[in-house]
Amino acid sequence: MTTTSSPVWLFDLDNTLHDASHAIFPAISANMNTYIARVLGDGTTPAAQELVDATRTGYWKRYGATLLGMIRHHHVDPADFLRRTHDIGAFQDLVRTERGLSRLLRRLPGRKILLTNAPTAYSTGLVKHIGLQRHFAHHIAIEDMRVHGQLRPKPSKLMLRRLLRRHGLAPGRCILVEDTLVNLKHAKQLGLRTVWVTQYLRYGDPIGKAPLPRMVKRPAWVDVKVKSVLRLPATMNRLRRQD
Ligand SMILES: [Mg+2]
Repeated sequence: MTTTSSPVWLFDLDNTLHDASHAIFPAISANMNTYIARVLGDGTTPAAQELVDATRTGYWKRYGATLLGMIRHHHVDPADFLRRTHDIGAFQDLVRTERGLSRLLRRLPGRKILLTNAPTAYSTGLVKHIGLQRHFAHHIAIEDMRVHGQLRPKPSKLMLRRLLRRHGLAPGRCILVEDTLVNLKHAKQLGLRTVWVTQYLRYGDPIGKAPLPRMVKRPAWVDVKVKSVLRLPATMNRLRRQD
């Protein structure tokens, strides 16, 4: 395989490389609730729990990230929001992941880029904690996903297109590895290949309790569906560039 045709892997972090639904998302959600309750409150009394829950999940569904709704409708400072909501204490008590990820990333041919909607401080700390930082040529976090001064996280096609251009990457060389279907859908529309990782998904929302049913159909925009990223080497034939 020549350098120019070797794949470039774009790896999501949360619920792709570790089980964020286990303890990390619940901790971040609790912080978001506190933050949102204060912002929606009257300055003395925090807003009621039902309003806070509806606001958090409503913005998450509508904008793909609660933060985007909080910026648009409540003018919060993104850096402040990200710092406070991701202040969750020591990773060792919260992180649950698989053995063999470092060997997997070493073994996979081609460059790897970390592409996460999480903030830099959190994602840097987390990939270090699970010992994967040296495998990534680039680390792209939410603060790096700005277009014309506005935050444009995944699934923004505008952001993705600019990212590919900036790194000189032809879409056909790139493989996005993700748990979130809409991110894969938009990537596929731009010509990337797509891998859907399902083992950490929960039914309903990312902090729901019920695991996803085993037999969820693979949508047309997903090239390969795997339970775990550890299955990637076995799927390489199906991911080869087709052009
Ligand atoms: Mg994810």
